[in-house]
Amino acid sequence: MMKLLVIGSGGREHALVWKLAQSRHVTQMWCAPGNGGIGEERLARDSSLVECVKIGAEDLIGLLRFAKENRPDLTVVGPDNPLGLGIVDLFQREGLRIWGPNQKAAQFESSKAFAQKFMEKHGVPTARSGIFSDAAAARKFADSLGGRCAVKADGLALGKGVLICRSVTEANDAIQQILVQGAFGKAGATIVIQELLEGTEISLHALCDGQAAKLFPTSQDHKRALDGDQGPNTGGMGTYSPVPFLTAKQLAETGDKILGPWLKGCHTESIDFRGIIYPGIMLTKEGPKVLEFNARFGDPETQVYLTRLESDLVELLEASVDGTLSKMDLRWSDQSAVCVVMASGGYPGEYAKGKVISGLQEAGKLPNTKVFHAGTQRLSGQGSPYLTNGGRVLGVTAWAETLTKAREAAYAAVDKIKFDGAQCRRDIAAKALAHARTND
Ligand code: AMP
Repeated sequence: MMKLLVIGSGGREHALVWKLAQSRHVTQMWCAPGNGGIGEERLARDSSLVECVKIGAEDLIGLLRFAKENRPDLTVVGPDNPLGLGIVDLFQREGLRIWGPNQKAAQFESSKAFAQKFMEKHGVPTARSGIFSDAAAARKFADSLGGRCAVKADGLALGKGVLICRSVTEANDAIQQILVQGAFGKAGATIVIQELLEGTEISLHALCDGQAAKLFPTSQDHKRALDGDQGPNTGGMGTYSPVPFLTAKQLAETGDKILGPWLKGCHTESIDFRGIIYPGIMLTKEGPKVLEFNARFGDPETQVYLTRLESDLVELLEASVDGTLSKMDLRWSDQSAVCVVMASGGYPGEYAKGKVISGLQEAGKLPNTKVFHAGTQRLSGQGSPYLTNGGRVLGVTAWAETLTKAREAAYAAVDKIKFDGAQCRRDIAAKALAHARTND
């Protein structure tokens, strides 16, 4: 019998709430602040509704007050910001049980300079790089790479703090913008410059308990706004899992190469990482290399992972908090899953909110399909229409025995849903299918 509090309001949190609600252990669930879809989820145990509470994910004091009053047995943190702000340490000091890395461990995501130094010190394969707070030294290093580099703000910058450069002029402009002009404020007072890596990019996730790390299957995000990986970078326009670029054996080897030295390094540095470690990886000719670390579930990777996860997520998160993960088995369905993000017109730039969304009921009736909400709201509860309320609006997810069928099912659901200005990519998972064709 457990009461859960989930923190966050995106598609990732809807997927977390949906999966956690299936656990027979859960008797009550809140989500702060949640979204239009989260408030419609029901617990498997007694069909009671998940309750959205109007407290922002970064309002640590408000969240603590709520938790002290309502005593959840476990708080589950979705987004990176509250982790970087130290919500886990704060809750633990008050004797509240919470899942996610503490502030020291969350530095893998909150400071790219920290992550880069750690990787180099402990032999985690990564790009050649330098860390700078002086523009002249940064320019000199970028010049030595022929300008082909990624210039990254050290701190959290809403996923926008990375500029990809292919010439010395572009690199100098990026250094000027981030370091000198402070385009990302304090987050860019230090920058990391990495050599530009070529290859296929994949996402890895592993659940950790301070000692052990349990690897998830592979998935791939689609970061650019437009088909064919064109247009500006976004929070992610779609995902699928598993990816065909790695066999199970290669995945295990990649996991060992990265998580082996990473776990050892955490031990040496007394970093007690309990949560999801999610390295972004480039599969290069010289092997896998880590581009960056995230210290939480990916969005929209979570949507495809959790539709494939067969194990009870509450039990897994409990084991992650308790340090008993090595006894647990992560069971995954053999099916493929595809998530297509439907976004507001103009995203990732400016966009309007408050557009009426139609077709959700019809799409929701399709088999093996789940429409996860991200930026949606419902003004007056049951029966009133859903309105758009953010850049990424929905994560339309479907699963099937083949990737081709999962993709068809996801787009069939997308085609039932309408709102003014809706945009989505039409090529989610297309690269995987092309790869499969050439390797047949
Ligand atoms: P990050 O937030 O560090 O993952 O960077 C955002 C995106 O920039 C990544 O998903 C990659 O597509 C790209 N990127 C980052 N670092 C590199 C690199 N060293 N070489 C090539 N592409 C990169």
